[in-house]
Amino acid sequence: MKEKAAGWGTATDMLSQERTAIVTGGATGIGAAIVRALSAAATNIVIDYVGDPAPARALVAELQGRGCAAVACEANVSLPADADRLVAAAVAAFGRLDILVNNAGIEARYPFVDTPDDVWQREIAVNLSGPFYCSRSAAKQMIAQAHGGRIVNVSSIHEEIAAPTNAPYCASKGGLRMLARTIAVELAQYDITVNNVAPGAIDTPMDAATIANKKLDNELLAEIPLHRWGKPEEVAGLVLWLCSEAASYITGTTVVIDGGMMRQAGSL
Ligand code: NAD
Repeated sequence: MKEKAAGWGTATDMLSQERTAIVTGGATGIGAAIVRALSAAATNIVIDYVGDPAPARALVAELQGRGCAAVACEANVSLPADADRLVAAAVAAFGRLDILVNNAGIEARYPFVDTPDDVWQREIAVNLSGPFYCSRSAAKQMIAQAHGGRIVNVSSIHEEIAAPTNAPYCASKGGLRMLARTIAVELAQYDITVNNVAPGAIDTPMDAATIANKKLDNELLAEIPLHRWGKPEEVAGLVLWLCSEAASYITGTTVVIDGGMMRQAGSL
């Protein structure tokens, strides 16, 4: 056990004091990269997952094999009781909670007028209600600990720019933008910071269909000034930085990580 210290560590040793983090949807894609980055910075990890437990279990085994503390917890972030149970699992395993990364997200594309009710409801439930419920449970625990905390939401450039055939996703991420801004102001008195990271095109299973379609892939690359997909590890590095002392005065904002895509939009 590392000594529990009063501060948030330094920029260089990042999370050198003992910290505990929950990463929702942490078994795959960007979430798994965030888990690995936080874990490498000596943070105890709770990997949230739904459905097949195999990827979460494999990641726990990988981290434990490197001497890192990690557990997996099945919790559907769109259910308030599951969000409470997830935070309780972190406290049961490690005695505290310092960092919540709301990463779980889903996407399904339909022309607006053909979008089924259940698609709208599911995307809002997972992408917006999920961070609401998990942040509320986590904030209660952080306030009780009286030691500050960090909440980081994995949003999207679509919290800001439109994507035709993706209305529920854009609405959920737009809502996440204002959820973060509002609770950041409210939780500042407890030294809990709340920020969004907004990735552009990141090479994960969520985008496998686009990458497999050469024409679509080339069209997308033409819109990215850095002319490549981002890596999950690059998003993870940004999340880690937002959880460090280096970012202690940053709250209520969104940091975009998109290879310049948003700046180029509309410039052609
Ligand atoms: P992914 O599909 O690998 O990750 C999503 C994870 O969320 C999965 O592990 C999934 O099981 C989990 N999940 C889904 N519903 C859940 C629920 N109800 N409760 C708990 N977990 C649930 O895809 P990814 O690309 O790694 O996406 C991670 C986040 O990054 C998402 O919020 C996504 O919107 C965001 N994002 C991704 C990209 C990209 O290009 N890949 C771009 C911008 C934003």
